[in-house]
Order: sequence, then C-alpha cells, then structure tokens
Amino acid sequence: MKKALCRYHSGSEMSYFFTLNLPTIMLILSGITFFILLFYLTYISQELSSFERKNTLLEKAISELDGQAKLIIKNDMELKLYQDAVHDKLKKLSFLKNFIDVTINILDRKALFAQIDKKMAHAIGFENVCILTFPELEIIVNAALSPSHLETFKTFTNTHHTAVASLTQVSSDLDVGKDLKRQLSHEDFLIGPIITEAHVQALFILHKSIISGGMTEAEKEVCSILCMYLGQCLNNINSFEALYRTGEELENKVKRKTFELTKTLDEMEKISKHKSDFISSVSHELRTPLTSIKGFSSLLVAEKFGVLPQAAKERLKKIDDNVNKLVDMVNTLLDIARIESRRIELNIVPSDVCKLIRDAADFLSPQMKSKQLQFEVDAPPELFVYMDKRLIERVFINLINNALKFTPPEGKITIQCNRHNDEATVSVSDTGYGIPQQDLEKIFQEFYRVDNPMNREIRGSGLGLSLVKRIIELHTQRIWVESEINKGTTFYFTLKVVENA
Ligand code: ADP
Repeated sequence: MKKALCRYHSGSEMSYFFTLNLPTIMLILSGITFFILLFYLTYISQELSSFERKNTLLEKAISELDGQAKLIIKNDMELKLYQDAVHDKLKKLSFLKNFIDVTINILDRKALFAQIDKKMAHAIGFENVCILTFPELEIIVNAALSPSHLETFKTFTNTHHTAVASLTQVSSDLDVGKDLKRQLSHEDFLIGPIITEAHVQALFILHKSIISGGMTEAEKEVCSILCMYLGQCLNNINSFEALYRTGEELENKVKRKTFELTKTLDEMEKISKHKSDFISSVSHELRTPLTSIKGFSSLLVAEKFGVLPQAAKERLKKIDDNVNKLVDMVNTLLDIARIESRRIELNIVPSDVCKLIRDAADFLSPQMKSKQLQFEVDAPPELFVYMDKRLIERVFINLINNALKFTPPEGKITIQCNRHNDEATVSVSDTGYGIPQQDLEKIFQEFYRVDNPMNREIRGSGLGLSLVKRIIELHTQRIWVESEINKGTTFYFTLKVVENA
C-alpha cells in the first residue's frame, strides 16, 4: 500500500501520506461515507416531501375530477328529466292544438262540451274531468268522476263562493285549494275558472289519484290554457247567439214590416185601381158629350150653320180650342188609367226608331217653323228597337211638344239617338227656360206643373210627362231628365235594340 501511494504522489505530499496509518484512513473513509450518506438521506427526504406534495395535488385533482363526474352525471340526469318534461309538454301542447282545431268553429255549447271527455283528460295527464256552472253548480260535463267527488266539489264551491268567484287562474294550492285537498285526501286535482266577460262562468275540474305521480308544471299550464280557451269559446258562442238573436229579431221585424207594407201596398193598389176606374169611367162619361160638343163647335167655327158675327166666331174658336184640349186631356187620362190597370193592349215588336223620330219631327215641323225654332235630328239612318210604335210616337210628340212650348223663338230643338251595345238612348233637347232642380223629380207626377210665370201663361194639364213615363216603364226601360235654368232641358229614354240589327 505504501508503495502504491508512493507511485502516485511525490515530494512533501508523498511524505505526508506515508505518515498516515490505517485507522486514520479508515476514519477519513468513514467520514466521507457518512457525508455521502447524509447527503443521500437529505436528497431522499427532499424527494419524499416532493412526492408527498405531488401526491396531495394528485389526490386533490382526483377528488375534483370525482366531483365533476358527479356533477356531469347529475346534469345528465337533470337534462334527461328536462327532456322528458319537454317531451311531455310537447305531447300535451300537440293535443291542445288538435283540440283547438276541432272545436274552433263550434258555435254551440252542447257540441263544444261534448268534446270534453275522459279521453281528453287522459291526453293531458288526468283521469277524470268535470265542468260545473257557476254559481248555479250544474254539472254540464262529467267524465267518470265519482258521485262522492262531484258532491265534494259542489259543497266546496258552495261554501267558498267568494273565493271561487274571484279565481283568475288554475289552482290546486290556493287557500281554497288547500281546504279542498284536505277534503279529498290522497287525490290530486286542478280547478280552473272559465271566465267570460270578466265573470267566472264555470269551473273546469281535472282530477287524478295521487299514486299517478303528482302534478307536473306542463299539466298546470295545459289546464290553464284550456280554461282560457274555453272562456274564449263561450265568449264567441255568446256573441254568436246575441248576433243570431238580433238577426232573428231583425228578421221578424222585417217580416212584420213587409207584411204591413204588403198590406198597405195592397190597399194602395186597391185605391189606385179605384182611382183608375174612376178616372176611366169619368173620362168615358166625358168623352161622349165632349165629342158631341167638339162636333158642334167645329161645325159652328166652320160656319156650317150660317155665317156668324166676328165676335161670336172668335169666341167659338176659343171654345173649339179648349174643347180640343179637353178631348186631349180626357184621352190622356184614359190612356194613363188603361196603363195603370194593365188594360192596355201592348204590341212591342221590332221597329225602326229613327224613322219614327223623323216622322214625328215632320209632323211638328210646321209649328217649329212658325216659332222660328232651329230643329236638328242626329240619328243613324235606321235602328231597330223593341217598341210599341203607337205609344212611343206619343212619347216623341209629348216631349217635342213640351220643347216647343218651353223654348223661346229662335231657340233650338235637337233629337239624338245613340246606340250602346244592346241599348238605344234617345234624347230630346231644347235651349228653353229650363226646370228648377227641385222640380226635376216631380214633373213626372200626374197634374204636376212647375209653378212659374211662364207656366201660368202656357197652358197645360200636367199629364203629358206622366203618360210618357208610364209608356217607357211599360217597355221596362228608363227615362230621366237634365236641365239648367235659362240654358235648356234634355229628356233621355232608353229602348232595347233588336239583336243583329
Ligand atoms: P204640361 O206640359 O201639360 O204642363 P207635362 O206633364 O208635359 O205637362 O209637363 C209637366 C211640367 O214639366 C210642365 O208644366 C213644365 O213645367 C215642365 N216641363 C216639361 N217639359 C219641359 C221643357 N222641355 N222645358 C221646360 N219645362 C218643361
């Protein structure tokens, strides 16, 4: 050993080594070992405490993970419950939709309540259903609710009258509800008000036994919607019934009035017939002596009985003129009476109205000339219409005569005829004195004459237009007038054109 040491060291160090003995070396080695061990132990203890720290963290992490896993499971379960609830709600809402589709147009109470049955109660999660009217407490619907339950509901409603009357929403746990629950031990029920016009009209009661799993929010909601819907339905039915009643009353009133009117009309027709008969017989009676007077006056005027003094002749001429007017009047009255009593013989056939216009114009042209009136006819060469020629000729003559009477000299009279589809419109216009607006409707009445200085001068019977109107109406056509004071008047009437004319 000494030799070995000598090989590695030299000089004074070498001599020092050679002086160390074995125990010292052992001591040194043990010290070194001790230090190494100490160092190692320190290191191990540090590692251990680091492991402990990590272990604590790991445990914490594991417990956190466990908590989260529990939360996830809990959330999952809640989600499932929520999904079930949503599914249940959807099912009930879809039933509600169908129920509304079926009942929305029902306007009869019985038919509406017939839709509320056990099947319906099942569809919304209950076993039985009943409806009690309020405050009468009449059972209008009962789907398998036992008589004892019904009696309990009735007694309960009776004893809690004020509370029930002020119910605004579905209830099972109101003060009143609690009381009822006590009476119906082991049962679940919902009691909902059916409200119309702010009053509880009926109670909608849904019931199921407690073993069926309690009441869900969806069931309460559906019951609440149903109550509101039934209230609305009853409102609609009430409105419909009120409307129906009003309609019936109105119909009865109309029937009564129609009956009264028909009676009055019958009476008026009778009176009118009496009047026509009277006019007709008076006219007939008048016609015979008038014809004789007319004959004599004409012969006298024509001096067939000898020459007359001038003054007598002039007076006789006036008598003759007036007799002529009287004959005209009597004839017109007879025609009106005949038309009114439908005793006139009508001969409506296709005829050329334009030819008739020209003939009437020719007939009256001497009078136009003597009054220095301009005269114009604006009509197609021919136009065939359905008419009684003799009567329409009277129309033309009366209208043109009036135009002649009420137009001052140098005025103008125009007759026009226009076709529009199957209708011909004929007009007779003048540039005369015109008719006041307030008289326009009245001039077609019998004996009506406009009260003005002119009319006091121009004599007439007030029967001409009345006859004209009746003739046009006999043809089922229209007549009307337009007029402006001091500008002129136009009478229009229509006639039906012959097809392919
Ligand atoms: P009359 O001519 O015999 O008085 P009508 O029945 O023919 O009777 O006419 C009734 C009234 O209508 C006339 O009195 C007159 O005041 C008014 N009238 C009719 N036609 C015309 C016209 N073309 N211009 C102005 N007034 C008219």
